[in-house]
Amino acid sequence: MARYPFPVPEANGRYTSMLLTGLMCAAALVAQDTLPPAARRVLADVRYLSDDAREGRGIGTGGIEAAARYIAAAFADAGLLPANPDHSYFQPFRIPADAPAVLHTTLGGTPTKNVVAVLPGNSPALRGEVVVIGAHYDHLGYGGFGALDPDSTGKVHDGADDNASGVAALLEIGRRFRGQHPARTIVFIAFSGEELGDLGSAYFVQHPFVEPVDSIFAMLNMDMVGRLRQERLLALGAATATEFPALLDSLNQAEPERFDLRASGDGWGPSDHASFFAAKRPVIEFFTDLHEDYHRTTDRWQKINATGLARVAAFVADVAWALANRPGTLTFVDAAPPKMATGGSGYGAYLGTIPDMTDSPGGVRLTGVRAGSPAELAGLQPGDIITAIGTKTIANLYDMTDALRSHQAGDTVSISALRGGHPVQLTAVLSKRGS
Ligand SMILES: [Zn+2]
Repeated sequence: MARYPFPVPEANGRYTSMLLTGLMCAAALVAQDTLPPAARRVLADVRYLSDDAREGRGIGTGGIEAAARYIAAAFADAGLLPANPDHSYFQPFRIPADAPAVLHTTLGGTPTKNVVAVLPGNSPALRGEVVVIGAHYDHLGYGGFGALDPDSTGKVHDGADDNASGVAALLEIGRRFRGQHPARTIVFIAFSGEELGDLGSAYFVQHPFVEPVDSIFAMLNMDMVGRLRQERLLALGAATATEFPALLDSLNQAEPERFDLRASGDGWGPSDHASFFAAKRPVIEFFTDLHEDYHRTTDRWQKINATGLARVAAFVADVAWALANRPGTLTFVDAAPPKMATGGSGYGAYLGTIPDMTDSPGGVRLTGVRAGSPAELAGLQPGDIITAIGTKTIANLYDMTDALRSHQAGDTVSISALRGGHPVQLTAVLSKRGS
């Protein structure tokens, strides 16, 4: 989960957390033998995905590539079909250099991929409609941008709950559906680029190579589902279809052990479901709530509630199955984005520059401008060094992100730049990202 908009509890002191890790580690090892089979399977997946050797599944690492292959192999084992017309499970894309979170990193242009599989529907009338089940598999890598423990830069952030847990649930749902024939088509997606601003899901919504985006009946997201405590399961986005609350409640009532299910809210929020909600599809984001290890190196597999995770997977599978076989339609309920949007479009206004990531001599130097973008229309050129936007002085990429965040699409701003050492003054009309 990226950029959680609310205050996050502080970590325990060093001694306490080390002690806790040690205790829980011992408990997990003892308990593992007695776990139910589904819990053992999801724990094995979490342990593989959050092993230090996966390098925190940081974009551009060998670790995230190994994770992608693991997910594809698990999809194949479950009998799910490759979604890509080239018969692979991969949907490759590049990290957009001008995505605001990416400006804080050197990852612009790095190739990465979503991993996508299909369980074809068998109803002639309904199989053109798609229930998407998703979970992001990328995480913070070696820390830095997005990490909440600033001293940890250079250390692997395992991301066991965020979001090896969601991927493990995704794979388990795939296994549960082996050989089944839903009426609607079910598409399984492990997204990349979530921690940099829902980039993989935004890419999929723009390039939904299975069926057109309008044919997505509903999207179920799982982000941080490995810490079930006091049975508390959040189903965010439950207000995005009028039928969702009753459906979720009736399925919960049928569970052998009921969840303390909190189903509410619109579809905006800091994870991949927001990309689908922005495309006006009903969404639900399943979440076992925040904890002190969020975006810290202490988010490790030893703290995963494997039995709880397997139960969440079973419940989301039931929700997906009910939706895939539902005779009726869903009634979508839209909502305006929050003022400081936290979803896929939450980066403020769009200028369309391609900044030089390596050096910022007294401003932000541009290596290019996007065709047709506000930057190009304003007359910005490659080599220009932006020194101010509106009243804000731009010394680096952080300043530029802040400046664009403080504006909205449609705003007219003055831009000061240096061109060949000479000051130039331009005017840009900012637009919306993705427009
Ligand atoms: Zn996250």
